[in-house]
Amino acid sequence: MSAYLLHLRRRFGAVLYPALYGPQILAFMPAITLAAYWMFGETALLTVAVVVPLLLAFAYVPPAARRPPPSLRDGLTGLSNRSGLCENLDQAIARGADRGTTTACLVITLDDFSQLQERLNPAATDSILQRVADQLALVCRQNDTVARLEDGGFGVALHPMARADLETLIQLSGRIQSAVSEPISLDGRAQYVTASIGFCLASRSPEPNGKSILQSAESAMIEARRSGPGAIRAFSAQMKPLLAERSAQLDEVAAALEQGQIRAWFQPQISTDTGQVTGFEALARWVHPERGIIPPAEFLSALEAGGQLNRLNEVILFQSLTALRRWDQSGMTVPMVGINFAGQDLQNPRIADKLRWELDRFSLTPDRLTVEILETVVTAMENDVVTRNIAEISKLGCGIDLDDFGTGTASIRHLRQFTVNRIKIDRSFVSKVDRDHDQQRMIAALLTMAEQLDIETLAEGVETAGEHAVLAQLGCNHVQGFAVARAMPFEETIGWYARHNRKISAAPKIRNKSK
Ligand code: C2E
Ligand code: CA
Ligand code: CA
Repeated sequence: MSAYLLHLRRRFGAVLYPALYGPQILAFMPAITLAAYWMFGETALLTVAVVVPLLLAFAYVPPAARRPPPSLRDGLTGLSNRSGLCENLDQAIARGADRGTTTACLVITLDDFSQLQERLNPAATDSILQRVADQLALVCRQNDTVARLEDGGFGVALHPMARADLETLIQLSGRIQSAVSEPISLDGRAQYVTASIGFCLASRSPEPNGKSILQSAESAMIEARRSGPGAIRAFSAQMKPLLAERSAQLDEVAAALEQGQIRAWFQPQISTDTGQVTGFEALARWVHPERGIIPPAEFLSALEAGGQLNRLNEVILFQSLTALRRWDQSGMTVPMVGINFAGQDLQNPRIADKLRWELDRFSLTPDRLTVEILETVVTAMENDVVTRNIAEISKLGCGIDLDDFGTGTASIRHLRQFTVNRIKIDRSFVSKVDRDHDQQRMIAALLTMAEQLDIETLAEGVETAGEHAVLAQLGCNHVQGFAVARAMPFEETIGWYARHNRKISAAPKIRNKSK
């Protein structure tokens, strides 16, 4: 048989096989029964009408019965686990070699999952995972294998198909992302999650087995997460295997900090009233000579494990105060820079003295520095050192921002006790605030409370002009997020600032509710 005929046979085979052996064959029953009657009479009619459904009833395994056995099943979602996924991929690859079909593996990871875990109770994160599992099962075909990996990760093994190319996979990834981004109701509130996706086509896998294709899809997912949130990446041979990458990173991260590869990038915060810059938040970035820009989610835990968060804090503080001086020298008006302080930083009994000394060294007044403290740190650490430190930093004249507000359990008492100047309303309240009435009501309540307490407000993670406009109308004082700008290296801030100022002097103002 010529190669072309062989190709045609494989293609039709791949399409016809599932149709002939699936329950959809029942649609042909009336035609088959009639044909049997015309050709062979009543006995044939009876035989076909009884025997075919019986045969199918025995042969067909309903989807629920296809649940993986306990050893290959994830306890929470009932989906396959990592071993189950690998096994299915192995089978799909072997079947492909026989029948000329192909497969692919997708790895889906929820963006910011570790932050979700910190913020929500375990039952809430479990319901998010369960809901994502349900959505994945809906988007994928019945014969695809959906699996739960560790943390906020899921995997999909495509049932062998005639054509699984880049375009098909990109489209499927897009459909998965939109299904995952549907609001999830938690205690009557909408919670939004996004996903980054990496995939590997069987034809691109370094080795023709399940383990290799899954690892490759995971490497692609790491690349996607680095470019995310919400990015999609296909595996290419240049990407390193995940495990090698992880262990190398642990060794490298300490050295990177000392060699100055971990730097402060700056994300602007602007007034909703005037549009002017009211500050920059310093966010740590690992500027890796080969791997590019690595976000803090991938190295903070290593620094914490190595007890080096204090060193990071020193580096970021130094670079932020340097930036303030340079902004002043270039004629920019940047009222202040905000720095993230971890619980560990606030345990240091000399932290307030250190800040005073550093500010003096740069001839900057304390109001130019804002200390961002996570709401969870404030509530979890009702210990004397932390409380005293926050009080001293505030007495020194630095601003205190309560970060990720709304995700912990800080009370009005905490706001007063820690002399908080501003709350940073967490992105989970801000997402889709222009389209979701519940979100609007929550934000309005938070803003009213802050106004009564005479505390400023900043909305974090503002991603669209619509969200920005609604926040301004509701009376939130400041916004920060991709809608304004992403974090950028110091060198880009000067050009961005000039362009931004030109834009706001040309644009009509959004009126604030208090005006
Ligand atoms: P955070 O303090 O809540 O910082 C805001 C995070 O949201 C940043 O992520 C920022 O890039 C991201 N973000 C800003 N605007 C948007 C938006 O519109 N949409 C979305 N989806 N995200 C947005 P990043 O830089 O990856 O930092 C993650 C976390 O790492 C920070 O959360 C902070 O808790 C921690 N972190 C960053 N730098 C430092 C540091 O120097 N020291 C310490 N201890 N923690 C740091
Ligand atoms: Ca922050
Ligand atoms: Ca935050």
